[in-house]
Amino acid sequence: MDPEPKLRRLKGSKPPLRYVDHRMDQGDDELHVCGLTLRGVACGGIRTCLMVPELGIMFDAAPRTPGQLRYDTILVSHGHQDHLGGLPYLVSQRHMVQAGPPSVHVPQEVVEPLRRIFEAWAEIEDFSMAVDLHGHAPGSTVPWRDGVARCVRSVHRVPSLAWIVERHTERLRSELHGVPGPELGQRRRAGEVITERHVEPLLCVTGDTQIELFDREPLVRRCTVLVHEVTGWDDRRGPEDVRTWGHTHVDEVIERAERFEGEALVLVHRSPRHTRAEAEAIVRRRFPAAVRDKVHVFGT
Ligand SMILES: [Zn+2]
Repeated sequence: MDPEPKLRRLKGSKPPLRYVDHRMDQGDDELHVCGLTLRGVACGGIRTCLMVPELGIMFDAAPRTPGQLRYDTILVSHGHQDHLGGLPYLVSQRHMVQAGPPSVHVPQEVVEPLRRIFEAWAEIEDFSMAVDLHGHAPGSTVPWRDGVARCVRSVHRVPSLAWIVERHTERLRSELHGVPGPELGQRRRAGEVITERHVEPLLCVTGDTQIELFDREPLVRRCTVLVHEVTGWDDRRGPEDVRTWGHTHVDEVIERAERFEGEALVLVHRSPRHTRAEAEAIVRRRFPAAVRDKVHVFGT
């Protein structure tokens, strides 16, 4: 058989998607920062599901992510399939192992269409699965073991939320520092409130967003760990092109990086056009020296 006609057709086609074959097999990653484990996958346009075992919280629900059945609480950024497409299967698998329906928190605009998807599966499978869906508007909160998870509006092509996990602790009121223990006990028994609530914005997971989220939300910039999407990493798709699709380009993060007040800036959702090695080289070469050591590239 003469291969030439096929070769000519390939030469005349659009830029080759060489990454297509391997990108679906991109492995899970694991990163340990500031006492948290970030585990899962966050590959732009393909699959995003991040699990944080110390918090017992999973962010987004891409399919085929090992370990995801263990999570009772799922915080969803938006309804694109690479972030939410795995949910019906996950709920079904949890039913099989009698784990019960997870508590799923989504943008309020997604609730009704998602219910229709579950109804369609119930019709196809002749079996109805329980699902514990909660819709959220920006500003609402979800109770969490040590505090709350709070959502703010991110900037994407569909209704979307960034999730911020706050840890609440009670600490001795600052004006009482240095007061001897027995006296503190005496004051407490007399009815004085000797502690005050301390709120630590521990973790923000932006989901898909344009950079306006970082500019607009001081709380996002203050989180100890900020997991921010960076889809575009070079000029094959420049910042304007990336913004058209509701995403962030690394140039936009570099010029703002020194405004990040936390301890770890974790860059996720890299387009499969870019290898991890390329992204890490860009971090070393182009991020300001003052923040470079805080920046992590997530995703194999
Ligand atoms: Zn998206």
